[in-house]
Amino acid sequence: MFLVNFVAEIQKTMVETPKNIAVIGATGSIGTQTLEIIDSHPELYRATVIAAGRRVDDLIALARKHRPALAVIADVNKYSVLRDALEPLGIRTAAGDQALCDAVCRDDVDMVVTATVGYSGLAPTIAAINAGKDIALANKETLVVAGRYITDLLSKSKSRVYPVDSEHSAIYQCLVGEDREKVKKLIITASGGPFRKWSVEQMAHAKASDALKHPNWSMGAKITIDSATMMNKAFEIIEAKWLFGFDVDKIEAVVHPQSIVHSMVEFTDGAIKAQLGLPDMKLPIAYALDEGRRLPGAEKPLSISDYATLTFERPDTDRFPCLTLAREAMHRGGNSACVINAANEIAVAAFLEGRIGFNDIYSVIVRTLDKISYIADPVYEDFVATNNEARIFAESILY
Ligand code: NAD
Ligand code: MG
Repeated sequence: MFLVNFVAEIQKTMVETPKNIAVIGATGSIGTQTLEIIDSHPELYRATVIAAGRRVDDLIALARKHRPALAVIADVNKYSVLRDALEPLGIRTAAGDQALCDAVCRDDVDMVVTATVGYSGLAPTIAAINAGKDIALANKETLVVAGRYITDLLSKSKSRVYPVDSEHSAIYQCLVGEDREKVKKLIITASGGPFRKWSVEQMAHAKASDALKHPNWSMGAKITIDSATMMNKAFEIIEAKWLFGFDVDKIEAVVHPQSIVHSMVEFTDGAIKAQLGLPDMKLPIAYALDEGRRLPGAEKPLSISDYATLTFERPDTDRFPCLTLAREAMHRGGNSACVINAANEIAVAAFLEGRIGFNDIYSVIVRTLDKISYIADPVYEDFVATNNEARIFAESILY
């Protein structure tokens, strides 16, 4: 079972009325870029729902500009500010986690862009699938936490999933028209992050400001730290497994510091297909919004002759042990990846606050993974419980 049906995608016809989009995580890096694309194509898209976690002022500003039918803030303490600013403009408002789930299920929503960060993406994604909504999936943590569960839900739903993550969009683009039986390997590229050339000793003293200096991509803080530890690449291996239905042993990561080749697919005849472009999320976001078709001018053009040298190197798992956790999680199965995700969220937040060192992120995850009870075939309530337990334990071992 796999989530992305790459063979059928090119046969669809264009929609005639603007597609109604719910952008969950609208104030973030992916969310704001999604709204920019929507804004530049009013004939194709309309932002019907926008939602955010806590940044109510940013959400209000976006609502004033994009005039959605509904704006939702997850933090209930910010509700009165949102309501007082937007209801006089005729924009409905709501707050809380349940409101987020209700919002994606509205009749006037055609597609949900899951651009929230971390575990918070899980519940609204499940709600959207149960309501049969199409999903442009940026929130990879949903598939890390509950890939098998989500895959099962999708098999009973009319929802379709379109990857937003640049590597997965690249693989999706390389797979169009291909026979999946002829795929030998998915090759996911990684920039190597800001510490690609740092020693373990240097990384032990790295500050949050060092780790937040990503060489190629401008992204939210959590994914930027995940890129520095290479946990992001571990998550992307898991994400690729569930999206495309290949075993993790057929998925490998390669370091490509220029971030021009966004990923590759190797076939049984030895051919390797790649998708290239500048490191700009607008192209993969637009490709997902348009269900695997190409929107003109979605990205700044890449002048290939400016990149005479494209290099590739093997990742160093001694210095970046988080990368090994993808295979570890998939071999253990059950709720293991949910534990890893929760511990990682706590450890990354603690590192950003200066409470633990950079190399401690991996130690916190491994200790938590060894502690939390294994559940072989988790259902939704098990993910909720595992996530809570893992967070509490990880928090308790911070020093
Ligand atoms: P970000 O930190 O910039 O934005 C996160 C958004 O989620 C904000 O709008 C925030 O308000 C919202 N949010 C946070 N907690 C929430 C909650 N509990 N309920 C509802 N909303 C909440 O993050 P980002 O960089 O845009 O990343 C978003 C997702 O996309 C992540 O899963 C990330 O891994 C993935 N992704 C991002 C990029 C990128 O270039 N930024 C690339 C590929 C994948
Ligand atoms: Mg990515």
